[in-house]
Amino acid sequence: MRKKFLVFGAPLIEDKEIKEVVKTLRSGWLSTGPKVHKFETMFKEYIGTKFAHALNSCTAGLHLSMVAIGVGAGDEVITTPMTFCATANSIIHTGAKPVFVDIDVRSMNISAEKIKECIERKYYIDEKSGTPINKETHKHLRAIMPVHFAGRPADMDEIVRIARKYNLYIIEDAAHCIEGFYKGKKIGTIGDLTCFSFYATKNLVTGEGGMVTTDNKTFADRIETYGLHGMSRGAWHRYSDKGYVKYRVIYPGFKYNMMDIQASLGIHQLKKLSQYSKKREKIWNRYNEALKDLPITTPAPFGKEIVHARHLYTILIDKDDAGITRDELQQKLYRLNIGTGVHFSSLHLEPYYQHNFGYRKGDFPNAEYVSERTLSLPFSAKLSDTDVGDVIEALSTILK
Ligand SMILES: *Cc1c(COP(=O)(O)O)cnc(C)c1O
Repeated sequence: MRKKFLVFGAPLIEDKEIKEVVKTLRSGWLSTGPKVHKFETMFKEYIGTKFAHALNSCTAGLHLSMVAIGVGAGDEVITTPMTFCATANSIIHTGAKPVFVDIDVRSMNISAEKIKECIERKYYIDEKSGTPINKETHKHLRAIMPVHFAGRPADMDEIVRIARKYNLYIIEDAAHCIEGFYKGKKIGTIGDLTCFSFYATKNLVTGEGGMVTTDNKTFADRIETYGLHGMSRGAWHRYSDKGYVKYRVIYPGFKYNMMDIQASLGIHQLKKLSQYSKKREKIWNRYNEALKDLPITTPAPFGKEIVHARHLYTILIDKDDAGITRDELQQKLYRLNIGTGVHFSSLHLEPYYQHNFGYRKGDFPNAEYVSERTLSLPFSAKLSDTDVGDVIEALSTILK
């Protein structure tokens, strides 16, 4: 048994980031400034969009993306229940309602087929706007918010087709998918707006942090303004050596800006992304090979049409096959000093969404199936060969 507890999703922070943070601290400019600007410029070049705006989280990005396209009270947004609560909460913060649509059980992504069914069944088309209106709630459907689960791009061709047909915006939650491609297109360049996370466990880490990419200047401008108190553009210059800069307050905005301390990490993490990806790909392949004969389900294979960003390595444990439940396996691994995660418990099973939107157990059978069986193994560029070997050995011992 390993001596030291293996933390799930540990970040890899190296000398360059540490030196850059120290330099930033010594510079005296801690909040939004030149480093954030540099990180944004690097990021939009990396993704290939006209605009990239850095924020203090992906959650802030999702919320402001909703605000930018004008989603508010009286609106509805389709999303997946197999996600972190931030996805749905960002919709709720605008006053809108999240409409969950079940997933495809293999990809664990929102099912495009079921989005179509949901719209055809629950909505009629408003003659004036050409957009769907809910037959029961009379609310307007405004957008689709797919999540690229675990780093596997969702079925974007179909989702784009549905969005065009019904006049809906697409806001992508790409918290897991920074290195992803879908049919040759970089994730971040497909939907109207795409949000990335740099939270401590993600593929690129700034501790807390996020980025929104878009090609739409109006949306980019709104996100910048709403993200910093609703003050007119460039307000972060107001205490710089350029002299006091006058600003106007044009919206009741939010405090969502990224700090230069965070961007100092991001600048170097971005440069190492492909190196870290290669490392995760090796671990991924090693897990696949070593676990293939165990009575569990490993991640669904994928073809050349996508690049999987390999954020989470999730297995499914079915008691009938494995003789043990997911929770029991998680406990046994914990006792062997191996930390794991559960991504996710479907949101329609959580009390808030049940009490406020009437969701019930049984609504989304595929999401429930995954919720009860999924377990995320330790997976990050920081893992050593020995760490990976320990995980494999522990699983083999427990399951054989
Ligand atoms: C981590 C995560 C978020 C939230 O990201 P933050 O940067 O922590 O706000 C949103 N959606 C998904 C799917 C996530 O995993």
